[in-house]
Amino acid sequence: METVAVTFDAETLRRLIDAAAGAMISHADELTALDQAIGDGDHGLNMKRGFEAVLAERDQLAAKPLPDALKAIGMTLVMKVGGASGPLYGTLFIALAKELSAAPSQEEFVRAADAAFAAVKARGKSDIGQKTMLDVLKPARDALAAGRDPVAAANAAAEATIPMRAVRGRASFLGERSIGHMDPGARSSALLIAAMHEVLEGS
Ligand code: ADP
Ligand code: MG
Repeated sequence: METVAVTFDAETLRRLIDAAAGAMISHADELTALDQAIGDGDHGLNMKRGFEAVLAERDQLAAKPLPDALKAIGMTLVMKVGGASGPLYGTLFIALAKELSAAPSQEEFVRAADAAFAAVKARGKSDIGQKTMLDVLKPARDALAAGRDPVAAANAAAEATIPMRAVRGRASFLGERSIGHMDPGARSSALLIAAMHEVLEGS
């Protein structure tokens, strides 16, 4: 079994945390604007608050083995992000933590992505096609499994939430009026995938 050409040493973990937090902090206004259109306008602030807390613990987190770091990040996100997305993103990172070893193979990554998708789905009682973050997580996982670019897949999938009608989350209260806007959680998922992929590909 092939090992991914990345060692999750402290330096790589620091760069991953910087990239993920940087993406959420610099796109907070955009995520908030998306949530203003079909939700309550707090997604950008929620994600910024959560990732600022992760960033504040960066060096302690980076000193841990990958699974321990992912679990700690997940717990911080549950506590600090709030809203619907906090427990969902927290669940995602904790599920990844359970599946990944300290030096994961490509196969292990795909298995972990499967487990993370299943965990978010169970926690949100949601499924693909309902205009949520799941609509990005699944295509990104599929691209990874097929050796395609997960960032392109995630970005296209976030765009594809625009014509969907929301069935879960606050946006579902709008019914038909949720059509025509990108789902904020789909966008934040695509941004996180892009930020982390850039670090892993570049190293
Ligand atoms: P809140 O909806 O509580 O204000 P946020 O605005 O932070 O929380 O997050 C909203 C995002 O969370 C949505 O755009 C959607 O992607 C995601 N979301 C909400 N509910 C669910 C659910 N049941 N399953 C999956 N994702 C969900
Ligand atoms: Mg909201």
